[in-house]
Amino acid sequence: MPTRLSFNYLLTPDGLRADQTLVVDSDGIIEAIESGGKGAHGFFAVPGMPNAHSHAFQRALSGFGERARGQDSFWSWREAMYRLAARITPEDLLVIARQAFREMLRAGFTSVAEFHYLHHLSDGRSGPQMAQAVIEAARAAGIHLVLLPVFYQQGGFNTPPAECQRRFVHASIEDYCRLLQELRGVPLGIAPHSLRAVALQTLAQLLVQADAAIGSRRPIHIHISEQRREVEECQAAFGRTPIDLLAHTVQLDARWNLVHATHASAAERALIVQRGATVVLCPLTEAGLGDGLFAAEEYACAGGRFAIGSDSNCRIDAVEELRLLEYGQRLRREQRARLANADGLGAVLWQQACRAGARALGEPLGELAPGKRADLVVLDEQAAPWLGHGPDTLLDALIVGGSRADLAAVYVGGRRAVDHGASAGEDADAREFAATVARLNQP
Ligand SMILES: [Zn+2]
Repeated sequence: MPTRLSFNYLLTPDGLRADQTLVVDSDGIIEAIESGGKGAHGFFAVPGMPNAHSHAFQRALSGFGERARGQDSFWSWREAMYRLAARITPEDLLVIARQAFREMLRAGFTSVAEFHYLHHLSDGRSGPQMAQAVIEAARAAGIHLVLLPVFYQQGGFNTPPAECQRRFVHASIEDYCRLLQELRGVPLGIAPHSLRAVALQTLAQLLVQADAAIGSRRPIHIHISEQRREVEECQAAFGRTPIDLLAHTVQLDARWNLVHATHASAAERALIVQRGATVVLCPLTEAGLGDGLFAAEEYACAGGRFAIGSDSNCRIDAVEELRLLEYGQRLRREQRARLANADGLGAVLWQQACRAGARALGEPLGELAPGKRADLVVLDEQAAPWLGHGPDTLLDALIVGGSRADLAAVYVGGRRAVDHGASAGEDADAREFAATVARLNQP
């Protein structure tokens, strides 16, 4: 029996439509969109946002490590992250990731690409337990998960791994592919951590063997060009900047998702557009870590695709990520409406990030259209940011003045996962999360 969900307004690939009904099959896929229905399930529905980059365990670090200690930077934050990572058990990870995934759903993210590198147990034993904890957390929260098991090999360009990185490191490509095989029950992608952490001669071989394990159509994600120091070290070691070096090392194409790309040069941005790769921007995390600002305006004008991710999960909110993305460009260029078109800011920004996010996850989602997953976010008709607005400017008001607090409901695969900002069982989970965070962050 198909489910029928009707809304006053629906944001479709063909534009905004009034009084529409989604017909959703038993697998949670949109079968058809029909006229009529009179908004029985809500006011204004937009596609659920794919979260194209997350490290769920870092949710436990939010708000810790904010005291000034001289030259605070990405690299001092990374030390705090390593201290936390060293302590987390599979049981802890289940609790932390479940909380992060619940917050994602409340914040408009209906699917997540989890960039998972905390592989081994704290005593050094390997096994799939940590990855299975992430999978179990996603199932418990009700979010659609694409797991990106990370291959991590070295501590920096041509540098062996440090003791604090041991839990991330696979002894060999074969070990990594064994993990991929063990996790085949969920959608997977391939994630060489970064050019810092994977040797160039290993990278090509890794892709061949991982493709053999999970198929050659799955997405590939990599951290790249996030920090100036990384760019300088790459140039010193190889005579090329990171994205240029990547394109000279592998077949850079539409499977590739370049996370951050903050310091990409104009030539590197042109290369990304030409090869059809996607840039995954994480504005709140990039701001929090003081990474810098990607030239998103120039990139978008050239036809570049960008998805968004909540990355360190210090604050989880799809609307705030998009606002900071736009405002970062305004501050950089000293001009307004940088990622808008003649129709406004909200619809184009939300839909671009959804479409690119769907490619980044390698899944049929990110649009309210037949054949796509029925993942959607319903806006609260009475929310303050759009009081006095009609449908044509409502999404602009969402991006400029709104937040996750203005979402009335969230559906994943046609099933209501969040209702009036709440989901079943969240209070007990939050208490368990609080106790876990307090214990893990004790000195
Ligand atoms: Zn990351």
